[in-house]
Amino acid sequence: MLNIVNKPFLGLFLFVITGTAAFAQTGRFQQSVDYKMDVDMNVTSNQYSGTQVLKYTNNSPDTLHKVFYHLYFNAFQPGSMMDERSRSISDPDRRVGDRINALSPNEIGYLHVNSLTMDGMKVDFEEVETILEVTLPRPILPNSEVEFNMSFIGQVPVQIRRSGRDSSEGVRYSMSQWYPKMANYDEQGWHSNPYVGREFYGIWGDFDVKITIDKSYTLGGTGYLQNPNQIGHGYEDEGVTVPKPTGETLTWHFKAPMVHDFMWAADPKYRHEKVKMENGITVHHLFIPTEETTENWEKLKEYTPKAINFLSEHFGQYPYKQFSVIQGGDGGMEYAMSTLITGGRNLRGLVGVMAHELAHSWFHGVLASNEALYPWMDEGFTSYASSLTMSEIYSPSENPLAGSYSGYYRLVKSGKEEPMSTHSDHYHTNSAYSSAAYSKGAVFLEQMGYIIGADVRDKGMHRYWNTWKFKHPNANDLIRVMEKESGLELDWYKEYFVYTTKTINYGIKEVNPQGDHTDIILERIGLMPMPIDLVITYKDGSQEMVYLPLAIMRGEKTPEEGAPKRILTEDWPWTNITKKITIDRKMNSIKSIEIDPSKRLADVEQENNKVEF
Ligand SMILES: [Zn+2]
Repeated sequence: MLNIVNKPFLGLFLFVITGTAAFAQTGRFQQSVDYKMDVDMNVTSNQYSGTQVLKYTNNSPDTLHKVFYHLYFNAFQPGSMMDERSRSISDPDRRVGDRINALSPNEIGYLHVNSLTMDGMKVDFEEVETILEVTLPRPILPNSEVEFNMSFIGQVPVQIRRSGRDSSEGVRYSMSQWYPKMANYDEQGWHSNPYVGREFYGIWGDFDVKITIDKSYTLGGTGYLQNPNQIGHGYEDEGVTVPKPTGETLTWHFKAPMVHDFMWAADPKYRHEKVKMENGITVHHLFIPTEETTENWEKLKEYTPKAINFLSEHFGQYPYKQFSVIQGGDGGMEYAMSTLITGGRNLRGLVGVMAHELAHSWFHGVLASNEALYPWMDEGFTSYASSLTMSEIYSPSENPLAGSYSGYYRLVKSGKEEPMSTHSDHYHTNSAYSSAAYSKGAVFLEQMGYIIGADVRDKGMHRYWNTWKFKHPNANDLIRVMEKESGLELDWYKEYFVYTTKTINYGIKEVNPQGDHTDIILERIGLMPMPIDLVITYKDGSQEMVYLPLAIMRGEKTPEEGAPKRILTEDWPWTNITKKITIDRKMNSIKSIEIDPSKRLADVEQENNKVEF
């Protein structure tokens, strides 16, 4: 297995506590937040009240006259945008469907702001369903900090999607998207998207959260517990006797540095198991022990640390000291330093969903591209990383990305494909969104390995991490990193594969004997141009490669390890529909000619890719 145990513990996590508000080398900025919240949860009424002190720093060059908060729980009400969207979309998510519409007043969710001040001054605010529009009493100037003070009340909805109470597996509280959360403002302006059930985008900052709840409940989620020896519930240090609580409640105190969200879950039936990794990371597993869960969750404890090590080795060191896998929610969903997953699964399903949600820690958690705007950079890259992880830690696969390719091909054949650049809220169908975000997004990275070489792509992913962690990279930022790593121009790849639905289809048109030589005519049938790896296999079993980079790449990929020897390298200008190649061998010595035997080229029509003699 991969080994990171020798790295000094302190060095691993120092980065987390250093902010990166303005980063001169990119000409960009990011806002910063510092939340302090105190929450009281009533486990009988399922209602909670809280206070929030938010230090907000405007690092932008702009003067802000308004700010916006997300109030996600208001989506769980009949007639909400999420309800309308879920009922009118042609392929509804079965978890939602018309369930929001059927919620009674004590089953709905809500989140209301009772009072709000900025630096002690009253502010005007208006609740517009899932967004609180705030008109400021005084503008926030560039490079200045203000303090918002708020009180709020909420009701936890019956579990419909992601968060809620009393999940189908009996978990009492899955508390994600539960507090008034400042919307992000970046170089593309405000991102105050109403919640219709899709993706998220948050601001980096520190969270200090106190939750008071019935003492029988065990909690887990984002953040390090500050008072473990007073709380117990499996968090106490070894050998410590936890004092009996004096009242009916306990106040759990969590701190989470440099995260962009805060989730918690709670249930009186949770079993809590800790695993301390050799590199100092503590992995928590919380689940309700039943016949369906106990055996597999006990085994899961062995796989989560392995996955953390593999992902750290391949994509960058996991920067927090803790990760929690918690039974809850309605499938699998990623949160800062944690995940909520459903628990009653076979072992493969359980390890698979853990690996996927954990891999999000790299792309959603730390790189944190705007997932609403670039869902493929989160879900796609996470699918890519978790497929590799599963192949490494669970069952080796010769082509871990095969499922992503077939998902993309199905999307193309469905005729419902929309460009990957579509905002996740605005895809016409759920299936076009998920196939583009998950499958085509994963293909994007695997195919990047075809274009620039797998090794260079892998190095590029580390460089991407080192350049852009905690900075919200966009599509162009990734492309620039890969250009720098490979020395090739790659803007065309982004423009075709991300912004359009044009597809790749190359074919071998003709093979003609020319005495001692053989002429091969290739044809570009699809609208998207790509470099071509053409492998010729001779009757004696040997292989050679013809490499045809696009002229617009302004260079060639370095030969990949294990690839056949290149006998010819020639640019293929994208304007040219056909390309003739002449090789110095008699046609009757050739056994087969094939475009990309590695199958990384996402060629939507592969019957014409190989000729056998
Ligand atoms: Zn995911």
